[in-house]
Amino acid sequence: MRAVQVRAIGGPEVLEVVEIDEPQPGPGELLVEVAAAGVNYIDTYHRRGVYPLPLPFVIGLEGAGRVVATGDGVTEFSVGDRVAWSDAAGSYAERVVVPADRAVAVPDALDDDTAAGALLQGMTAHFLTATTYPVQAGDTVLVHAAAGGMGLLLTQLVTARGGRVIATVSTDEKEALARQAGAAEVIRYTEADVAKEVRALTDGVGVAAVYDGVGASTFDASLDSLRIRGVLALYGAASGAVPPLDPQRLNKAGSVYLTRPTLVHHVATRADLEWRAREVFEAIAAGTLTVRVGGRYPLDSARQAHEDLEGRRTTGKLLLKP
Ligand code: NDP
Repeated sequence: MRAVQVRAIGGPEVLEVVEIDEPQPGPGELLVEVAAAGVNYIDTYHRRGVYPLPLPFVIGLEGAGRVVATGDGVTEFSVGDRVAWSDAAGSYAERVVVPADRAVAVPDALDDDTAAGALLQGMTAHFLTATTYPVQAGDTVLVHAAAGGMGLLLTQLVTARGGRVIATVSTDEKEALARQAGAAEVIRYTEADVAKEVRALTDGVGVAAVYDGVGASTFDASLDSLRIRGVLALYGAASGAVPPLDPQRLNKAGSVYLTRPTLVHHVATRADLEWRAREVFEAIAAGTLTVRVGGRYPLDSARQAHEDLEGRRTTGKLLLKP
């Protein structure tokens, strides 16, 4: 089968399409024919060795497809079932082994591309808005990179909970998308003083929460945009890692809370995985949440997909089509 392999860590150029043996499902595992694989920022961290993996490895974590074989002891799924997953290593491939207890059934109402792109970012946006800082009606929150994969989902989920979104983006096109997703205010963070603008838009109060997946370049403004006892959810580092900080800064910012949450800890149990996946899928089926696919790439253009994502040229969700 064809798969995108990383033999040495580095830039997008290390992504190579290779012919390798099809993996075999072990006990409790499914072999799935991949209809589409989700492209995520974490894939770039794996490729660059920010989160080191033993070399060589087939890259990618997310996707959707049809079960073609089951390992011993699998009772929940059968050959032919449509499934989606957010944490099966080796998903940029024609076939991938998915642990059955990490797979979720795809409802008939969802097409393969939507299912492939929904879970990793969808469940992250779900835990950020429902668990990390549960948005209340009337809250104003700041969402950075609001036209990105995560940003569009966060903006829609905050709005659906009755919150008001102040969005940051870098271009006109991205501003239009953020507004379409529900953002009430949009700041060009490449040009403006974000914290100052946020104060002006909140009568000097600041926001209840900041969802920051950009990291190094936005962190200071995020901290300075919070209201007293607000929550800064630093969930990623698209612009680079945030340097170590003195806890006293949290006091000066107004007894604020800083957290650095990750999806795996929010879907660690089967019950949590099923709950978050179900709520994401139901919101999509009901039309209250849209996964906007901003780019579809053939498997041998995985390099281009990474270049575009890291080059800030993309909007919404990116998919690879084997
Ligand atoms: P996006 O689609 O949001 O792409 C990244 C966006 O970040 C860009 O389009 C760009 O938007 C903005 N950006 C600002 N500065 C930079 C920079 N220097 N380099 C690149 N991009 C920049 O990506 P994703 O939705 O896939 O991921 C967003 C973040 O969410 C990532 O940090 C990722 O790691 C994190 N994440 C965390 C999870 C968790 O469990 N904690 C799970 C899923 C994602 P603009 O042009 O508008 O500035």
